[in-house]
Amino acid sequence: MKKNIAIAIHGGAGQDSPYIREHVNDYKKGLKEAIEHGHKLLSKGAKAIDVVEATVRILEDNPFFNAGRGSALNREGEVEMDAAIMDGKLLMAGAVSMVRNVKNPIELARTVMHYTKHVHIAGEGALKLAKIRNLELQPNEYFITDHQRDLLLEETTPTGHGTVGCVAMDEFGHLAAATSTGGLTGSLPGRVGDSCLVGAGCYANELSASSCTGEGELIITSVIAHKVAMLMELKNMRVQEACDYVIRNMENPIPGDVGIISVDNKGRIAFSFNCQRMHRASIDTSGKMVVEVYNV
Ligand code: ASP
Repeated sequence: MKKNIAIAIHGGAGQDSPYIREHVNDYKKGLKEAIEHGHKLLSKGAKAIDVVEATVRILEDNPFFNAGRGSALNREGEVEMDAAIMDGKLLMAGAVSMVRNVKNPIELARTVMHYTKHVHIAGEGALKLAKIRNLELQPNEYFITDHQRDLLLEETTPTGHGTVGCVAMDEFGHLAAATSTGGLTGSLPGRVGDSCLVGAGCYANELSASSCTGEGELIITSVIAHKVAMLMELKNMRVQEACDYVIRNMENPIPGDVGIISVDNKGRIAFSFNCQRMHRASIDTSGKMVVEVYNV
C-alpha cells in the first residue's frame, strides 16, 4: 500500500555562476540521489527525524554542496561547520557550530539532541563530544575542495553556494527538519550562521518543518523558519503562503538572497526563494519527484 509520506531537500540558494551552470547536472544528480534515498527510507517506515539526518548526510558527503566535504572556507582558508536537527513531534533539537574535522556535522547535532541535556554545543566542546561518541573524523584536507579555494580567492561578495537541508513527513504524520552548512565564504573565523540556530535556519513542530539557506545574518534577524510555523498557527496560512510571505514581505527590504523549504503535516511541500536559483528536490505524497535548480 502506498504510504502518506513527503520529503523535500535543498542544496543552497543564491546567485547563479558559471561554475553552477557548468555543473548543473552534477548538482541535479546529487539532489536526486539524496531525495530518492530519503524517500525510500520513509516508504520503509523510517521516522522523519532519522530520514532528515540520513538524507543530509548524503549531501554532506557530496563535495558539490557547501556542507561537510566541500564546505565554504572562512577568511583564513579554514572550514568551520554548523548544523541543526529538530523533531517536530517531540519539539527536541540538537545543534552544533564552529565544528571542525567531523565528517557529518548533522550526526553530531543529532548526538547533541540524543545524548546530552543541551540543545547547542560549539567549537572544541562539539569536537570532544564527537570523539566521545566515536563519530567519524577526517583531516582538514578532506573538507577542502579546489572550487571552494577558488571562491575564496575571488573575493567577491561572501557566498555560501550550497548549504543543505531536508524536511520530511513520515507515515505517522510526524515532521522533522535538518540543516547543515560550511557557512559563507570569507567569513571571520568564529562566525556562526543561521543553519544551526533553531528557529532561524531550522525548525519543526506539529504543523510544519522548515530549512533555510542564503544570507545567514538576515535569516537570523528575521527568524524565518519559526516565523513560517507561527504564520500557519496564528494566521491560518497554508505552508506555501507562509513561506512566500516570509521571503517576499519581510519587515525590512531584503538585502540578501534567501530561500526556504517546508513541509506541513498533510505532506504539502513548499519552496520559496528570492534569488536566481535554489537547488532543490522533492517527492510529494503522490510520489511525484521534482529536481530543479533555477526558477521554473
Ligand atoms: N545560510 C548559510 C549561512 O549563512 C549559508 C547559505 O545558506 O548559503 O551560514
